[in-house]
Amino acid sequence: MCELPVWIGIDDTDSYYGGCTTWIAAKLSYRFKDRLVDFPYLIRLNPEIPWKTRGNGALAIGLSSLTDKEVEEVASFVMATARDEGKTNPSLLISWGGERQERFAIKAIRDVITKRELERTLEKIGPTSKYFLKKPGKMRGLIGCIAAINHPWSDATYELIAYRDDQNYERPEFRDDVLWMDSLTAPVTFANFDREVGKPLIYPHGPDPVLFGIRGEDPRVLKAAMMMLGNSCSLWMVFKTNQGTDEHVVGVNGFGLAYPYTTVSIEARVVSNPTITPGGHVVIDIIDRDGNSGQAVFYRQTGNLNRVARRLMKGDLVRVWGGVRPETQRKVINGQGLVLIAPKILYDEVPSCPFCHRKMRQVNAGRYICDTCKVQAMGRARFYLKRDIIVNRIYQPSASAFKHLMKPAGRRPIRTPQEIKSVLS
Ligand code: ATP
Repeated sequence: MCELPVWIGIDDTDSYYGGCTTWIAAKLSYRFKDRLVDFPYLIRLNPEIPWKTRGNGALAIGLSSLTDKEVEEVASFVMATARDEGKTNPSLLISWGGERQERFAIKAIRDVITKRELERTLEKIGPTSKYFLKKPGKMRGLIGCIAAINHPWSDATYELIAYRDDQNYERPEFRDDVLWMDSLTAPVTFANFDREVGKPLIYPHGPDPVLFGIRGEDPRVLKAAMMMLGNSCSLWMVFKTNQGTDEHVVGVNGFGLAYPYTTVSIEARVVSNPTITPGGHVVIDIIDRDGNSGQAVFYRQTGNLNRVARRLMKGDLVRVWGGVRPETQRKVINGQGLVLIAPKILYDEVPSCPFCHRKMRQVNAGRYICDTCKVQAMGRARFYLKRDIIVNRIYQPSASAFKHLMKPAGRRPIRTPQEIKSVLS
C-alpha cells in the first residue's frame, strides 16, 4: 500500500490526429471517484511553447490512496490510450508527497523549462515519485505532469467537459440552446457564445473526443448549464483549471525583460500612427519608458481588438500585452490586449479668459486667473482628439479569438465550497 495522498500527472497524450488528455483524466477520475481529494486539475501551460499540439494542457488527479496494483493499472491504461504519432511525448507521473515544486509549475506557465531544469527537478522528486513514458527517453511530457501536480492556486475557474460516445459523427450543435444557456448563466459561465457573429464557442472542431466544454466560476452552475443543452453524452467531468486567469502574463518595465516565448504586459508610448498590412493586421511602433523601441501587432483575427488598435495615434500612452515573438532584431509583441492610459494631447497651453480673451495669469501649480475680469481656471487648457476608444478600458480580442488563459474582462469570480460529490452525483 502506498503513502497518502497520491497525485497522478498526465501530459502530451494527444496528437493532431486524435486523443485528448482530459478524456484519459476523466476516465481515471470516475474509476477512482470515491477517493478524489479535489476536482481533477486541467492546467494550461505556456501558450507560446512551439511544440504544443493545441492548448498546451496538462492534467493532475489527487487521490487519497492508490495501491501498487492500481498504479500499474493506471500506467497501462494511460500508455495504451495515449497517441504516439507525431511529436508527442506521452508521460505519466505518480507522486507521493515530497517537496512541492511550485516555482517549476509557475515557470512552466510563464516561460520555457529546459531539459536540465527538468532533470534536476526529477532528481529532487525521484524518491517520492515514479514515472512512465510511452516513448523511451522522450521525457518532455513530464514537464506538464510536474507542473499540473504542483500548481499553486491563486485563482481558479472550472470547465465541464462532455465527451462524445462516437467520434465518427459530426458534433450536433444546438446554437439556440447555447445562446439561451449563456443568457441565463453568464457571467458565472463565460466564453459560451460569440454574439458578434452568432456562433456557439463551446464546441471544438478537431478530431478529439470532446463534445463540448462549458467554462465558468461555479461547478454547480456548470452542471445546470449542461442540462440546458440538447446534447446528450455518457461521460462528462468538471475540471478545476487556471483558464481565464491571465496567469501567463508577466508585467515588465521595458523591452529588455521581454523574452521570446513569454507573454508580457508593458507600458509604452506609441511613436507612429498605426500601419495596416494588406492582410488587415495592425502594426504599431512603440517605445518603453527607457526609450527602447519595439512593435505591437494586432492581428485581423482578434476582431474587436484589431479595430480598436486602428484608432491609436502617435503620442498615445498605452499598456499592451501579448506573446513575445522569437525574433532577435527587435521585440515584437503579438497583442492580446490593450489599454489606452493617456491619449495624445493635441493642444496644451495657458487658458484664455472666456470674456476678454486675454491669456490668464498662473496663481499656483493648478490655478489661473484673468486679472481684468477676475475669472479663474483650475488647470491648463488641454484638448484630446475624441476617438471611439475609452481611456482605461480593457480592450480584448473578440470572443472567438479568445485563448484559454486569457481573463475575460467581465469575469466575476465566485468562491464556493468545493462539493465534488454533490456535483458529480
Ligand atoms: P492539449 O491537451 O490542450 O491539446 P497540447 O496537446 O497542446 O495540450 P501537449 O500535447 O501537452 O500540448 O504538448 C506540449 C508539450 O510541451 C508537453 O510535452 C509539455 O510537457 C511541454 N511543455 C509545456 N509547457 C512547457 C514549458 N513551459 N517549457 C517546456 N516544455 C513545456
